[in-house]
Amino acid sequence: MHSQVYIWEGIRWEGESDMLVLPQKTLTKWNAKNKKYYESIVNDKGEQKYLWTKPGDEFEVDIEDLPKYSRSIIVTLCDYCLEKGVKTVVEREYVSYVVSQTKNIKKDACQNCLPLKIRENYG
Ligand SMILES: [Zn+2]
Repeated sequence: MHSQVYIWEGIRWEGESDMLVLPQKTLTKWNAKNKKYYESIVNDKGEQKYLWTKPGDEFEVDIEDLPKYSRSIIVTLCDYCLEKGVKTVVEREYVSYVVSQTKNIKKDACQNCLPLKIRENYG
């Protein structure tokens, strides 16, 4: 369930969920498994967004286009620091972000704030 989407200094904040920094690009590599998937993605003009080169080649991808199992590194902001008005960038694999969105507490924590998150999760 999603609450209201806020736009704040270019950062999209969906209610209590992670602070995902958008727009955001990351690097991924072509392989036989993702070829069909990325080739099927088109932009607003109906043009193919990603052009196949060869397996193992890196290319830039919009994080919204990443498959849910992607291990590409994305950037979110620490929710606990934000509560104190500080923007701390947290780097993580996209798949771990997706998994965190299915948890009760959809918050990101930097290394310093991890104990706060663990306390919140386990009461
Ligand atoms: Zn923090």
